[in-house]
This record gives sequence, structure tokens and C-alpha cells, in this order.
Amino acid sequence: MKSNKKMNPESLMMSHGYKPELSEGAIKTPIFQTSTFVFKSAEDGKNFFEIAYGLKEKEVGEEVGLIYSRLNNPNLEILEGRIALWDEADTSAAFESGMAGITTVLLEFLNPGDLLLYSRPVYGGTDFFINKILPKWGIHAVGFKAGSTKEEIKTILKESGHEDKLAFIHIETPANPTNALIDIAMCKEIADEHSTEDKQVLLAVDNTYMGPIWSSPMKHGADLVCYSATKYINGHSDVVAGAVSGNIELMTRVKGMRTFLGNMASPNTAWLLTRSLETLKLRMEKQAKNAKKVAKFLKKHDKVEKVYYLGFLKKNGTDEEKALIEKQYTSSGAMISFDIKGGEKEAFKFLNSLRLMHLAVSLGSNESLAQHPATMTHADVSKEIKDHLSVTEKLIRLSIGVEHHKDLIADIEQALDKI
Ligand SMILES: *Cc1c(COP(=O)(O)O)cnc(C)c1O
Repeated sequence: MKSNKKMNPESLMMSHGYKPELSEGAIKTPIFQTSTFVFKSAEDGKNFFEIAYGLKEKEVGEEVGLIYSRLNNPNLEILEGRIALWDEADTSAAFESGMAGITTVLLEFLNPGDLLLYSRPVYGGTDFFINKILPKWGIHAVGFKAGSTKEEIKTILKESGHEDKLAFIHIETPANPTNALIDIAMCKEIADEHSTEDKQVLLAVDNTYMGPIWSSPMKHGADLVCYSATKYINGHSDVVAGAVSGNIELMTRVKGMRTFLGNMASPNTAWLLTRSLETLKLRMEKQAKNAKKVAKFLKKHDKVEKVYYLGFLKKNGTDEEKALIEKQYTSSGAMISFDIKGGEKEAFKFLNSLRLMHLAVSLGSNESLAQHPATMTHADVSKEIKDHLSVTEKLIRLSIGVEHHKDLIADIEQALDKI
């Protein structure tokens, strides 16, 4: 694959990893809708399998031969190369959902008896897998609240009774839906402090909320970066997909597990994501610009009590928060939550009155979405965490899209007027 690391990723999103001469000169990657690949010779087939199963080392510059679409496929390989450019990772792996990527990582790197440390709140599906499924395999987990200090986290680890078994840390920052922050480098320190000569504690960051454009967790020490590519990366609300990025050594293990779980993205899904990546930066920049304007409007409105938006935290947060935002994020993002004056009745009236924005969960798409975390995305979250996060009946979460900002603001204004 052709690579030019010196160019900016957005310049390479239309070409990286694709050779038109191998596809009749087509400027765009065709969809390789095929299950299996024809070997030129039996010797080639033998060689490809030896490399795929690790029976033989790859020679320098040698590409892994195409065998079967559960192992590799040109659409996946091109997509994975392009996602890796954004993350400045060696490589990525594409999955048929965000959950497929996250669960594959946890299954590969955790063994019976191990302890997993994770941040709370974590995405609902991830929470379910950690607390309802992993215990069946003898894997324990302890959570820490987003915003906890290093000392608080270390105390939680000690009190778990399995501190010496810590094997993996999985975090989500900023926390959904109120943008509580976690210091990635601090989590890396905890991982390193619990690593020994024969066991490296790994750190994974779910970067769905801010990535891959506004946050680069690997720069702050993350070993693996996970995405629901359903969100910003695809950004058109028409695909469910996932991705994981990291170094070659770890990603070889992730891809190995993926081969046997068989949860890789399909060629068609990979093709759609490749198309979406071409406009990723444009979309996300426009979304962030719109969000800033919407947040400012909400802040001044007399039916709005409080607005949760990274841009405001950056100005009015504690010194630690300000420094962390400065260090970890290059934008205030496009997610806004706000407390409406009143409770569920007022919140629902607002949601039911929207005309342009859609009432739907998910986020990061080109169309703006609104939802009610307490009764929707966070319906299953414990009362303790909901209170800690200010997820109350009056909270509404917005994911801002690429519409004209004036139309978004007019829509929000008319819906607030209905209350
Ligand atoms: C949506 C989401 C997931 C799950 O991804 P799917 O593509 O729905 O499987 C995981 N983490 C976060 C932060 C998400 O928003």
C-alpha cells in the first residue's frame, strides 16, 4: 500500500491504500463483494496460509495475500489503513458494530481471574458486557466515576481485593451525556504502575465521542482506541460499524480474535465507511461550529437552566478541567446537553415539538438528533451514577449535525416556546 505519512490525513482519504491500476483504473474503490479469492498457484495458497496462521514470518515489504473475506478483503484493508492515519496508529481493524470491536478487544486481552478497571458511566452495551457477560468467564470488573482522582481510583483498586490481577483498563472520555472528563495519561500511569515484567496492563479508550478528529488517545498513552463507527466516522445514520486502532503487535491479536469470532465488517459496510471518511473532517468541523452557536443560544434562553458543553467547561471549569481539555481535545465537539426548567413533562414537550431535529438516540450524524437520557440511553444506569452525572428528568442531549445553524436555532426556539 502506498503511504505518505507527511501529508495530512484529509488529503489522503481519497487515495491511501488503493491502486486504481489493479481495478481497471476506477478512481474509486469497487466493492469487492466476494467471499473467497482465487490463488495464482498452489504455492501461493500455501504461502498465504503459512503467513496468516503465523507459521512463517512475513518478508519485508510482503503483503498478506487475500484468502477469504473473514480473514481479509480489499475494502476492509483500505478502510483500516485510512482510519489508522487519523489515529497515527500502525493499523486498525473494522468490525460490523462498535460493540463487536469492544467485545473482541476485551475477550482477547482478558483471562479468567483477571481484573478489569473501567470508567463509569460507560456505554450501555459495554456496561452490560462487562458486568453481565464477563463474570461468566471469571473476569472481575471495578468501575470508577469519570472525574475521579488517581488516589480515588487506586483506593477502588485496593478495595476490589483483586488489585494484583489488574490486566486491562477501559475508559470513555468525555463521559456521555454530560462531558465529565478523564485524564488518559493518568490512566496510563495506573496501567504502568500495575504492569510487571511478564504482564503489561493495557489501556483502551472508547474515542467515539471526540474521535478520530478532535482527540488522539494514543498520543496520551492509550494502547488501543475503539470506535462505534456508526457515529461520526460513518456519520450518515445508515450503517452500524466499529473500529479499533493500535500497534501491530496488539492489532495482530485483535485481528486474530476477529477471525475466529467472525465479526469483521462486510465489504459493503467497509465501502460505505470509506466513502464517509472522505468528508469526515468537513462534517465534524461544521458540526462543531454549529454546536458552538447552538450552545450560546441555549445558555441565554430563559427556559434553559444549565448547558453542558465542553466549550463552556473550557472557559469556566476548574483549572484541572481547563488544562485537561487543552491537553486532550482540539475542539469542543458537537454534543450538547442541557437542563430544561421543569422536569420530564417539559422535556418531553420540547422533544415532541421539534420539527427539524429528529427525536432519536445515536450521535455524530449529519442530521441533528435530540433525546432524553434519563428515560432513553441511560434508562438502565444506576441511580447513583445518574445523580453523580446530573442525568435528571430535565436533561436533554443534542447531537448537532450539518444543517444551517439558523434553522437549528429557530427549531429549538419554537420548541422551547411550546412549553
Ligand atoms: C454507540 C456507541 C457504542 C456502540 O456502538 P455500536 O456501533 O452501536 O455497536 C459504543 N460506545 C459508544 C461511546 C457509543 O456511543
